Amino acid sequence: MTRTPQDPDCYFCRVAAGLTDPFIFENRSFLGIFDTHPVNPGHALIIPRRHVVSLFELNETEQSDYFDAIHGVRRVIETTDMNDLYRNMLNRDYLRDRPKGHIETVLKLPFLGKRPDAYTVGNNDGRAAGRSIDHLHVIVLPRYAGDVEDPRGGIRNIIPDRAKYHGPAPAKVGG
Ligand SMILES: [Zn+2]
Repeated sequence: MTRTPQDPDCYFCRVAAGLTDPFIFENRSFLGIFDTHPVNPGHALIIPRRHVVSLFELNETEQSDYFDAIHGVRRVIETTDMNDLYRNMLNRDYLRDRPKGHIETVLKLPFLGKRPDAYTVGNNDGRAAGRSIDHLHVIVLPRYAGDVEDPRGGIRNIIPDRAKYHGPAPAKVGG
């Protein structure tokens, strides 16, 4: 069902209104979609129906629906045929004129079709954290053994120079 977007200029308000990506999950406060620029098979997004910018602005109802959405989307990821998903995604009408390199790349990954070994879950909460659309979208990213050479540190690696646990010893402070 499509509705009028809350903010017609906001991409995720358009998604929430049912105007673009098909929903893979819905509850009272959130909906889930598969990202059309996947970095790994099953890369999904959880988006509040309301135009909420930050995770820290979710109201109590939304907060109580948040984990239900994360669990629900994971369930869909683990029961979806990823080969089918991405082959069909290549043929979506609204993506016709958009780059599809990410979809083509995940279709060639050796672990496509395997059950995820782990998850990275989170959001870029603000422009300085790398967000490009100011409507909250929580990333549920399935992880597979071997998807990066050395996964140690995970999210720490978004600040690569300071991510390593075993770098040179920090300079002594005081004495
Ligand atoms: Zn919005």
